Amino acid sequence: MGGLWGSFANVCIYRIPQERGVVAGRSYCPKCEIKISWYDNIPIFSYLFIRGKCRNCKKKISIQYLIVELLSIISFGAIYFFYGITFTTLWFIILALTFVIIFFIDLKHYIIPNSLTYPLMFLGFIKSFDPNLNELFPHYINSLIGGVFGYGIIWAIIFSYKILRNKEGMGLGDAKLLSAIGFWFGWIAIPFVIFSSSIVALISVLPSLINKSKKFSSEIPFGPFIIIGCILYIIFIEQYKNLLFG
Ligand SMILES: [Zn+2]
Repeated sequence: MGGLWGSFANVCIYRIPQERGVVAGRSYCPKCEIKISWYDNIPIFSYLFIRGKCRNCKKKISIQYLIVELLSIISFGAIYFFYGITFTTLWFIILALTFVIIFFIDLKHYIIPNSLTYPLMFLGFIKSFDPNLNELFPHYINSLIGGVFGYGIIWAIIFSYKILRNKEGMGLGDAKLLSAIGFWFGWIAIPFVIFSSSIVALISVLPSLINKSKKFSSEIPFGPFIIIGCILYIIFIEQYKNLLFG
């Protein structure tokens, strides 16, 4: 399942930024545009079998396709391991797949499409009305506060940075992504996600700051770090809540 949905995620990563439909039409080689036959479109195996090259034009196919499929398999496996066959698993699978798609689109194009964040915000909110929801997730008032708080804090950062430096420090795509996380996990997740994503981002750009291939004013996509911050939140949620409430 993870492999098949990962393969679908690859289609989304490729087609959403170009505003092409993700359902219509078969997959084709981005280089020579030949249609890919079903036996060359099997997750993981086909990539390894054709050694990452198009059968027709021999153009190298990005390793990203393999990474996305592997990440989807690993996350589906981990979610199933922890939550079995439950609604919680279904929610987490939807979140994981959307995260994978946003991660790679932002990494490549520096955008986070509304067509991904809006449905994520909506789902995060409506699931909070389920009375049997796993206690990982907030109820609707907390969810709503989280959504507003997540958006507001990034908006405030953008606004103050604009006044101070007359530049856009972050994008509203980041604000909508953090808002979605607020809707999914409640306001309490927001400070953790901001803090941990900033730390991870700083650590990861440190080498290129030191060897001066990047400056402090260089642009980096922040969405992937917000996603990593959210995954850290899900992993350390118990410790974090104990730290806050004892
Ligand atoms: Zn080709």
